[in-house]
Amino acid sequence: MTRTWNFSPGPAVLPEAVLRRAQAALWDLDGSGIGVLEHSHRGKEFLAVLARAEALVRQLAGVPDAYDVLFLQGGASSQFFMVPMNFLGGATADYCVTGVWSEKAVDEAKRFGAVHVACSSAEGGHTHIPDAAATRWSAAPAYAHFTSNNTIYGTQWTGEPAVPAGVPLVCDASSDIFSRPIDVARYALIYAGAQKNLGPSGVTLVIVKKELVAKGARDLPTMLQYRTFAANQSMYNTPPTFGIYVLSEVLRWIDELGGLPAMAARNRAKADLLYAELDRSPVFKGVVRAEARSQMNVTFRGRSAAEDAAFVAFATARGLSGLAGHRSVGGMRASIYNAMELGGVQALVDAMRAFAAAHA
Ligand SMILES: *Cc1c(COP(=O)(O)O)cnc(C)c1O
Repeated sequence: MTRTWNFSPGPAVLPEAVLRRAQAALWDLDGSGIGVLEHSHRGKEFLAVLARAEALVRQLAGVPDAYDVLFLQGGASSQFFMVPMNFLGGATADYCVTGVWSEKAVDEAKRFGAVHVACSSAEGGHTHIPDAAATRWSAAPAYAHFTSNNTIYGTQWTGEPAVPAGVPLVCDASSDIFSRPIDVARYALIYAGAQKNLGPSGVTLVIVKKELVAKGARDLPTMLQYRTFAANQSMYNTPPTFGIYVLSEVLRWIDELGGLPAMAARNRAKADLLYAELDRSPVFKGVVRAEARSQMNVTFRGRSAAEDAAFVAFATARGLSGLAGHRSVGGMRASIYNAMELGGVQALVDAMRAFAAAHA
């Protein structure tokens, strides 16, 4: 059986080598005679998996010792409230609003304090990234929050927003984490649901400055304080063991390919191929401004909604899945995360050309 090219926005494609290793580990983890799903989280076999996952996060992203690496549950959506619950305490936080996910983060933060929208791409329907000149920070925010890649609209920050010195920077990096090098020292907290670039759903990676963890509110349920996870190596309770295992194998795969610089080159090549086609196609056009184009989620449209639907059906028949755009944007969205092969993007480009030739 041939596998389908999977352009799903998440859960998303995983590297074939990782799926093969996971398949074997389901039966027998590292020669233990017990499958990965069956091991105690306190046993030496799983502890080795957890240690490998943390070590690879630290090595690949160059995480300084002053940061904790945590594996939580509840998805990125739980970080929307956990961040303000721990660090806002009735004060003001600044948010850059660049789409649905940051809007949701704002809604949760409002439960715990004031939100100042420092910049927004709402005008124009989130098709650009706000520039520094249009950004207004509040006087002394508890932290500033942004979404590095906008999964639904297909825009991506090329760097961090220029927050004033001393303001802790918090980032939702769910859909572009480890797709390119990241200067962790510029951040106070980075979070990402694993199911786009790192593994399966059910595990959330948090990289957080120890200094910030120590400042978190103490009058919260134990499981909602970062310090609980920091003090217990993410093992206060049973962690999502299988998700952490797969994540560790994805990180190993990234490492074997040459780490984050190699990922960036691979992702740039895929995105360049697809955007070049959009720029030359007589039928398809990119949705967002050229300078804001995401290398992870490529949004595009045909000449009408009917043509979009026809193309999605045409692509599906050619073994290309998951291309329908988000219901709020329409058109098409090709999610080309780390694990998507250049061959998959080439197959998409070939389908776009064949469709255009048949519908010129
Ligand atoms: C998918 C996504 C989320 C939601 O993640 P869950 O793990 O489902 O809660 C949040 N932010 C961004 C940028 C996303 O792409």
